[in-house]
Amino acid sequence: MPTMRAMVLDRPKTPLVLRERPVPQPPAGEILIEVAACGVCRTDLHVMDGELPYPKLPIVPGHEIVGRVAALGSGVTGFALGACVGVPWVGAACGVCPYCRSGRENLCDAPVFTGYTRDGGYATHTLANARFCFPLPDALDAAEMAPLLCAGLIGWRSYRMAGEGEALGLYGFGAAAHILAQVAVWQGRRVYAFTRSGDAAAQDFARSLGAVWAGGSEEMPPEPLDAAIIFAPVGALVPAALAAVKKGGRVVCGGIHMSDIPSFPYRLLWEERQLLSVANLTRRDAYEFLAIAPRAGIKMQVTRYPLEQANTALGDLRHGRFEGAAVLIP
Ligand SMILES: [Zn+2]
Ligand SMILES: [Zn+2]
Repeated sequence: MPTMRAMVLDRPKTPLVLRERPVPQPPAGEILIEVAACGVCRTDLHVMDGELPYPKLPIVPGHEIVGRVAALGSGVTGFALGACVGVPWVGAACGVCPYCRSGRENLCDAPVFTGYTRDGGYATHTLANARFCFPLPDALDAAEMAPLLCAGLIGWRSYRMAGEGEALGLYGFGAAAHILAQVAVWQGRRVYAFTRSGDAAAQDFARSLGAVWAGGSEEMPPEPLDAAIIFAPVGALVPAALAAVKKGGRVVCGGIHMSDIPSFPYRLLWEERQLLSVANLTRRDAYEFLAIAPRAGIKMQVTRYPLEQANTALGDLRHGRFEGAAVLIP
């Protein structure tokens, strides 16, 4: 029986362990994917740290999967053997709850999440629900496409929620911000990048991608912002960002988990400033963004790690040791 390798989390707050397993057969409606690259996302750290409730355990993390179709379950249409596909964070939505029926499958009452409630892409092979996979162009580099599947897609949803204003702040200049900054610059907006205080490398990186200003997250930008997106999981950034947006401005929290938000004076929210969170993605977000990404000429900065070095990649993400995105290569 052919075997596959996977990096497995047995329980939170322990390192991933390399395991060999039989390669599964895809059940009806699913496809077997031979993984070519899987992005490392901050959400994976939240799963590892036990900050998200009720993970499937043991779990194979990873929800920015690019690979090739290796086998088709019965009833799957629209995918050919060998075709390049992407698998995102939302692994399935029920299709019948009030949210699904009103075009908000990102808020589904019975969702399945790749690498959290079903096994993901820190592996040589994975299964995925075909209806939640996306065809990807064949010619592009798998590692450079992988971060688009979460940092790009959920970043895009956050970006749209931020509105049309021209002065946009990005708090936390990691994988998502480095993609969205390029989209914003392409659309003629002014990007203000906020990083950890004193992180000159991240600030230089942001300016190299077209940010008109980069500074520490405790600093005020040189002009009031129309909107800000917070990608860093730091609750203290909420009042900081509210203080930086102008009247009627919007602050969008783009992450799945954040430390507690400190109390703040009402005047920071007054004058119709808005504070909202973005959860997950819809397939419509994905199709929209995957069409825009090549037109915007997004250049991905990726650091590649062999699959077996997933723990190193996660540690480097936690400590901000690279710019852009980390990607595992089986
Ligand atoms: Zn639903
Ligand atoms: Zn993610």
